Amino acid sequence: MIIKFKEGTSRSDIESMRQYLMGRGFEIHESIGQSITLFGVVGDTTKYDINSLYAFKYIDTVVRIQEPFKKVNRKIKPTDTIVDCGGVLVGGNNIVIIGGPCAVESAEQIDLTTSLVKEAGAKMLRAGAYKPRTSPYSFQGMGKSGLDLLKEMKDKYHLPIVSELMDIDDLPYFMDTVDVIQVGARNMQNFALLKELGKINKPILLKRGLASTIEEWLMSAEYILAGGNPNVILCERGIRTFETQTRNTLDISAIPVIKKLTHLPIIIDPSHASGRWEYVESLARAAIAAGADGLIVEVHPEPEKALSDGQQSLKPERFEELVKVCRKIALAVDRTLD
Ligand code: PEP
Ligand code: MN
Repeated sequence: MIIKFKEGTSRSDIESMRQYLMGRGFEIHESIGQSITLFGVVGDTTKYDINSLYAFKYIDTVVRIQEPFKKVNRKIKPTDTIVDCGGVLVGGNNIVIIGGPCAVESAEQIDLTTSLVKEAGAKMLRAGAYKPRTSPYSFQGMGKSGLDLLKEMKDKYHLPIVSELMDIDDLPYFMDTVDVIQVGARNMQNFALLKELGKINKPILLKRGLASTIEEWLMSAEYILAGGNPNVILCERGIRTFETQTRNTLDISAIPVIKKLTHLPIIIDPSHASGRWEYVESLARAAIAAGADGLIVEVHPEPEKALSDGQQSLKPERFEELVKVCRKIALAVDRTLD
């Protein structure tokens, strides 16, 4: 990091700062200008809260040079991480499409949807059994019986299952039933949850928080890796902006930024990003063209009757079209989409 002292800082204050930083294991390179002094501070600042330096009255500016994340950093591991999700690999050259309803609603609904998304080309099934709804009066998901239905779908259709965990007490049951544990946007900074997920080895789909920066998102992934679980897939699902035409704004630039900063794979959720089924295919195309490793798309056989997110759910035939067009785009950017 670089520290700039305020103009006129006394030599004794500068020296006491030198002692303070050296006492914490840092090496100091001093640069004395006509009116200001700078310290180039060398050492691992990941465990040090650099903002705490502003507590000293003579500190003007502190700038971090190194990223605060370590294990997710591409500088530490230059090769792409490939996450094995019950036999489906996410992060390699092949693009993986995950499809399914927002929520498990009934045995018939999940069975029909699973058979149709599989036929259309989905390699994993998504569906929530525990739903984080804005209103306490909205459908909250089927809970444990929803997970049981998902397990049945896995056995019947041999598709790995992605489902959202909201409460750490439910983890043992998730361990037995799902292949990928989704951490929803609202829980991206639930650090107690992230720490527990660091202790297991199951893949984690970490969605970006509604108003989180890429650095905050990567710090959340860092929690999971720091705990010992390397199997993290990032999911950009749109962020809050001033725009009201869409539910969120898909941050397409997150794709190249994530590819540069981290070795973890990134997939895109065009459903929650747009909030409208009409826009989903366009965002999906853009995501593949921009280098995403996959998509997670909401599909419902009768969106008009869906208990959640029907407005952004594709009918199965539209989903099939989306897979076809994304396959063409994948080929054009030297990727494959099985
Ligand atoms: C979901 O995937 O159904 C969901 C609730 O997503 P998010 O956490 O991105 O809002
Ligand atoms: Mn949803």
